[in-house]
Amino acid sequence: MKTYSYNSILIGIILFFLAPINLDAQRLENECATVSTGTDHLLNIPASQWRNLSGTRVMRLYIVVYADDDGSNVAMPELDIIREVKSADSLLNIGDICFNIVGIERRNSTTFNNPNSSSTNYSGQTVSNCFTVFIVFSINGASGSSGTFGYAPDIPASYMVTKQAGFGPRRTFVHELGHALGLHHTFKGTGNDSDNPGCDELVNGSNGTTCGDFVTDTNADPYERCGTSSLGGCTFPYTGTGCRDANNAVYNPPMTNIMSYWANYNCNRQIFTAGQYQRMRNTIDNNSTLSSFLVSDNLVYTNQTTNSGFIRAGAKFSIQAGNVSSSGNYTVGGSVQATYSANSITLLPGFTANPTSGLVHFLASFCY
Ligand SMILES: [Zn+2]
Repeated sequence: MKTYSYNSILIGIILFFLAPINLDAQRLENECATVSTGTDHLLNIPASQWRNLSGTRVMRLYIVVYADDDGSNVAMPELDIIREVKSADSLLNIGDICFNIVGIERRNSTTFNNPNSSSTNYSGQTVSNCFTVFIVFSINGASGSSGTFGYAPDIPASYMVTKQAGFGPRRTFVHELGHALGLHHTFKGTGNDSDNPGCDELVNGSNGTTCGDFVTDTNADPYERCGTSSLGGCTFPYTGTGCRDANNAVYNPPMTNIMSYWANYNCNRQIFTAGQYQRMRNTIDNNSTLSSFLVSDNLVYTNQTTNSGFIRAGAKFSIQAGNVSSSGNYTVGGSVQATYSANSITLLPGFTANPTSGLVHFLASFCY
């Protein structure tokens, strides 16, 4: 029997705050396989009827790490995942969006650990009431830093798939989260007409709500349309008459934007615009599936014993566990897989964690 003391819990929580992220740019090869359709999902609801929540939208995030059937080819070490979610949250938090990790689960499946991105459907593998991230060993037969790094099945979406290579410098993880929360590529339409034919975004932004990526403050982005031989770094080199918009204006694409592809040419993806944050918030507030992932403000666990199954507890502000208000002790043990995630977690007298084959995690939330 293992009994966790207050000190070991505290040390565990502190460890999750370590390790800055290094942002080297490396060439991405078709790194995102998300299919971007020509329509704007937000237009299904008149803007006058949009729901508009307030404050930070904190959502439950559940992570499934796959290995092959025999346990080999584990997709990624668990502690690295927590560090990467913190990095993504620090960026999303700027726009009042955040994810609480409410569980990290290992599953063995050669099929789901090595998907064909166009035909492997994970909708039957998701966890209810949570945005699910599936971390896999290879996609379309390519492992490591080659081929597709990740994808969301739709825009918006209730889950995403990524390889370990999608974390860290590439920021594919947060790029796919952007797709799942309603964002298109900055070059939609303008850089790739097959993606939104006849709807090039103008440099002056006057058609930005109906063409391009439907976000007005992400500048029109021709990406590779004007050529590739002069590309490199964060300055767009093509200003000649052959590479201008319908008004003969010179492009100034958003080369550091998370939803761009300029990381293919050594320009790091670093930012979302205010308009992109607004579009993600609008999508969360008005998509019933994404709204169902939002956490409660506060949670109390008391007068209960749980020895099996899953506890996926995420709160925006606080979780209290134990003999709260003299209502009875709270015990988690046996084979239970429990994760408690909040800004503040208070373990009161009467709290006992004694898992045998299970695990009990306490995660300080990265949301603020
Ligand atoms: Zn993408």
